[in-house]
Amino acid sequence: MSKHRILLTRIFILGSALLLICHPSAARSKEPDLILINGDVRTLDAKMPRAEAVAVSGGKIVAVGRNDEIRKLAGELTRIIDAKGRLVLPGFNDSHVHFAAIGNKFSSLDVRGLTSAEAVAAKAAEYARFLPKGRWILGSGFANEFAQTEGKRLFELIAPITDSNPVLLYSADGKWAFANALALEHLNDGRSSRTENGSGERSIDGIISGLAMRQIASAVPSDHLRNWPEILETASNYAASFGVTSVQDMHSDELADVYRQLDREGKLKTRVYDCSPMSALPKLANLGVKAATGDAMVRTGCVKYFSEGDEAELPELRRDIAAADKAGLQVMIHAIGPRANRIVLDAFEWAAKKNGRRDRRFRVEHAQNANSEDVPRFARGAIIPSMQPWLFSRSGPAIFGRHLQLHSPLAFGSDAPMVEINPLLGIAAAVNGPDGISVEDAVRAYTAGSAYAEFQEKVKGKIKSGQMADMVILSEDIFEVDPARIAGTRIVATILNGSVVYLHQAER
Ligand SMILES: [Zn+2]
Repeated sequence: MSKHRILLTRIFILGSALLLICHPSAARSKEPDLILINGDVRTLDAKMPRAEAVAVSGGKIVAVGRNDEIRKLAGELTRIIDAKGRLVLPGFNDSHVHFAAIGNKFSSLDVRGLTSAEAVAAKAAEYARFLPKGRWILGSGFANEFAQTEGKRLFELIAPITDSNPVLLYSADGKWAFANALALEHLNDGRSSRTENGSGERSIDGIISGLAMRQIASAVPSDHLRNWPEILETASNYAASFGVTSVQDMHSDELADVYRQLDREGKLKTRVYDCSPMSALPKLANLGVKAATGDAMVRTGCVKYFSEGDEAELPELRRDIAAADKAGLQVMIHAIGPRANRIVLDAFEWAAKKNGRRDRRFRVEHAQNANSEDVPRFARGAIIPSMQPWLFSRSGPAIFGRHLQLHSPLAFGSDAPMVEINPLLGIAAAVNGPDGISVEDAVRAYTAGSAYAEFQEKVKGKIKSGQMADMVILSEDIFEVDPARIAGTRIVATILNGSVVYLHQAER
């Protein structure tokens, strides 16, 4: 334990003791922070697969059971969430995303082809929902007619939607732009204060050109596309709206420190396993980083690499995998197609033999279109097929059922932003595809399966006492509805660490 930790612990113990003296009810203050009732809770815990209610304390699940049993535990300060009979699942864990790229999708807004003020306002509203306060909404593509016909209406429509985000949207020819009230404020500071209509540069409808346009443009931060804290916060807000409470970031951008910073600031709504490129191996080994090193919110220790399916790469692949594995890191290799899958399996088996038995959880990312005779090698080597059912729903036969029969440790994800991060699309694809698996198996692969794939199965992926309180409430009972309706199911609420981090508009 570090000195810092010891000190904190002492302060905490002292604080608790004072609380006991000063607060009469503190002695019985084991009351839960949050109780969820009236849920159709599918726990994925074999000992109690269904329940009605869940109690949460200190970010952890402390009790699961019937409404009457759990309700009894409530105290004065317990927050009660009524699930109104709807389906409750463990928070989704996306085993394969490119998180910064998801956030960066909101760094520019394409208004080409949008001819009405309503259409532009609707898009801006979607951006404003996920962007941090103050982040600019930038974009371009207006046809010239837009300024005359829609400019004034857009200015009025957009005002209440974007009261925390400046908006600057250029015409396709770049000669004029639309700015919202917040962006126009940048004209009023210092030397830019007098550019009123006399010069034809600014008008009340937010259409600007010339000097005014340049002045506002100069107020846009130059690091807009590289402001990682804002970009990752956007991605995290977005993921929460789809019930995703954990992601495994396969993008080798090494942003773990930014994730930690966001977490300290209370802005991270997603637990992240942040993977590094194979080239970071010496650095990670030096720092003593091993698989799943970190805290409950941000962990590192996974290295990601590629196989293109070329036999010539096998020696290098073997060497790198064995070295990373020996350092205690978790290795995941991208492979699509029969040859790439075979090469990666060969290299994994070779490295495992060389380094001896241990719980290493090698992963094949995508594991798509492996040869039929290679499929049993996953289960035999305890190698994780990390698959994306929605991304690959139109390319080749799915083999989820076969992996399950063989007891492969199947994990699901999206590969967003290649496709939407929405897990319901993946679950629908896995259930409705030619080799359709059960809803329960698909949900399991997207929760407990993904948790196993990142060494976290003891602490997440199920609704069970002792696990972290990450849960979602869904609009439809995907176990019972017509499977065609699974993909359209929306998230009613997302709970991370016992806090509601997303609530659908209709519930607010
Ligand atoms: Zn990917």
